Amino acid sequence: MSISLLPAVQAFLQRDHGLFIDGRAQVAGSDRKLEVIDPASGEVIARVGEASPADIDAAVASARKGFAQWSQAAPAVRGAVLLKLADLLESNNEELAQIETLQSGKLIQISRHFEVAQAAHFLRYYAGWATKIGGETITPSLPSFNGEKYTAFTLREPIGVVVGIVPWNFSTMIAIWKLASALVTGCSVVIKPSEFTPLTILRIAELAVEAGLPAGALNVVTGAGGVGKALIEHPQTDKVSFTGSVPTGLAVGQTAMAANLTRATLELGGKNAAGFLPDVDVEKAVNGIIEAGFLHSGQICAAAERFYVHRSQIHAITQRLCERLSQLKISSPLDESAEFGPVTNKQHQAKLGQLFAKARAENCTILHGGQLIDGPGCYVEPTVILANSARDSLMTEETFGPVATFLAYDSEEELVELMNDSPYGLSASLWTNDLGKAMRLIPQIQAGTLWVNMHTLLDPAVPFGGIKASGVGREFGGAFIEDYTELKSVMIRY
Ligand code: NAD
Repeated sequence: MSISLLPAVQAFLQRDHGLFIDGRAQVAGSDRKLEVIDPASGEVIARVGEASPADIDAAVASARKGFAQWSQAAPAVRGAVLLKLADLLESNNEELAQIETLQSGKLIQISRHFEVAQAAHFLRYYAGWATKIGGETITPSLPSFNGEKYTAFTLREPIGVVVGIVPWNFSTMIAIWKLASALVTGCSVVIKPSEFTPLTILRIAELAVEAGLPAGALNVVTGAGGVGKALIEHPQTDKVSFTGSVPTGLAVGQTAMAANLTRATLELGGKNAAGFLPDVDVEKAVNGIIEAGFLHSGQICAAAERFYVHRSQIHAITQRLCERLSQLKISSPLDESAEFGPVTNKQHQAKLGQLFAKARAENCTILHGGQLIDGPGCYVEPTVILANSARDSLMTEETFGPVATFLAYDSEEELVELMNDSPYGLSASLWTNDLGKAMRLIPQIQAGTLWVNMHTLLDPAVPFGGIKASGVGREFGGAFIEDYTELKSVMIRY
């Protein structure tokens, strides 16, 4: 049974949504509206104004003004504001989670426990960095003819105005990663949410003001890709932090370089591999595959899509997986007992339909699912496919959906070769009870993050980002600091 919407959520949806600039909600200058559609019902739940060129100018000007003030705030003050915002995310968890579920189709339990609760957890982690960002002191070896001495030190200075471009799959958490990285280092930020899921960040911007963030430090500009491009090209923008697909990421990188050598961090997609060694028992493997491939209907950039299983076990593992998937409760994402919900939009559902058709045309064996579910919502069956070769489309193209494609291997050397056989390298996982073997395989696998006996779970203390065509730069850990600050070297003769 579906939960009831909070009155606050109903009131929020009724609002005339626009932009958030200079510390307050503002009406967009263009007449165009983005329709936000609930993917569970196909109904329009809100309309959001699309930014005009003048709005983009106003947002960047506001961020420039915000930067002047925020970059001068004491580090401990910056940390305290982020901590307060984390508290407010927690105390407004249910409201934000319901809005997130309505706009994205994410199961309400995932919205509550991952999107919003984890967003607060990440915020607190970033807040802790505020007082720990520093440079180093260095003694130069320059010649001293008259007794003069030298010293040098480095400063980490905030880069300036950051444009954070967010995809639709985790629109709350990814927006928080971007704004927290920017704000804790003393930058100001303009967030451009996905046109499919612009609502939660508009509410979070209001909470940020309540948390004590000065006007202009955080701005939200809504619109489609063109708005993102204009923000990057703006002469007053210093950096773009983008999360999204590989083709858009390439375009974003080119736009940024051509603009003003604008700094760019690119967190992109991939075609992540999971390799199961023959010592893993069937039940553990199946639990792992469900975690790696089917959480949030596979709409997670780090999810595994290519599954390599030893030939001796592929039948038993895929058969058990199909049994488990057939038991999942597919229901409304507002039903607390649902185990599987819709994908986030019609376009994505249609793309998955095309990939199923390709799999059939290439004579792959569809062991389970492989159909869109009829109805107004964007439901897709959880799907298991057996490929014929590593070159099949389902082994090379990102589905970003609830689709696990399998290929059998015979030797460990072949497993490593197959796992690395991709232009992408965001994440991968190895599954084995033999940790010695895992330790020897770890250096051979090409991925920004490699999990052993787990997949998909991210922790703010552990750097995350892609190698090869999966991106440039790292989020989390201490690694993000490099991407949001410029290093200034100071040398002194005395
Ligand atoms: P997308 O690339 O279509 O869009 C992402 C964002 O970019 C949206 O806000 C969109 O409006 C904007 N955009 C589109 N064209 C633009 C342009 N020319 N200039 C500037 N901005 C532009 O991605 P999506 O469909 O929203 O998200 C799914 C993709 O994101 C998947 O490929 C997934 O793997 C990837 N992803 C990666 C990570 C990661 O951390 N590596 C995390 C989540 C999602």
